[in-house]
Amino acid sequence: MKIIAIGRNYTEHIKELANEKPESPVVFIKPDTALLRNNDAFYYPEFSKDIHYEVEIVLKINREGKYIDESFAHKYFDEVGIGIDFTARDLQNQCKAKGLPWEIAKAFNHSAPISNFVSKTDYDINNLHFSLLQNGVEKQSGNTSHMLFSFHEIIAYVSRFFTLKKGDLIFTGTPAGVGPITVGDHLEAFIEGNKFLDVPIK
Ligand code: MG
Repeated sequence: MKIIAIGRNYTEHIKELANEKPESPVVFIKPDTALLRNNDAFYYPEFSKDIHYEVEIVLKINREGKYIDESFAHKYFDEVGIGIDFTARDLQNQCKAKGLPWEIAKAFNHSAPISNFVSKTDYDINNLHFSLLQNGVEKQSGNTSHMLFSFHEIIAYVSRFFTLKKGDLIFTGTPAGVGPITVGDHLEAFIEGNKFLDVPIK
């Protein structure tokens, strides 16, 4: 499986990183070795001094498809969950300054903690509130109604380049409030007030 991630999908987050608003989704990939499941601890890696959390709603692809029309995109996922797109901001800034790819800053081991997934029919996914707490303090709060590119637009766009397969995950972008983590932190992610994910930082 693969993880497809969307950058710059919430206006307030684009502003906080002083990025340009994209005309099409910003896409990158993480390998399966980026996954971190079962609320396992994240171990702060030695190659960065500035790892940031980015909480994101995650879609789970349920069938194979490419060149998916936006009007059929809803058939390609049944479940949603929440994840954290851990980002080595110091490495990312170095890559961006040189015009180089971001992979080492985004796709490293365990850079993608994910929750369990629930049926998308359990919630109004077009108006889904989600949040991240760091040591009990709310740092990020978002609503999928504020996305620049909808879930269906994202599926249509990325499937032009990458065949989607059953079990692939799509991270759909983070709202404002990203920030650094420290060893000893405790991150918790919520969908509509329900705790889905709990990640100790060691
Ligand atoms: Mg992200």
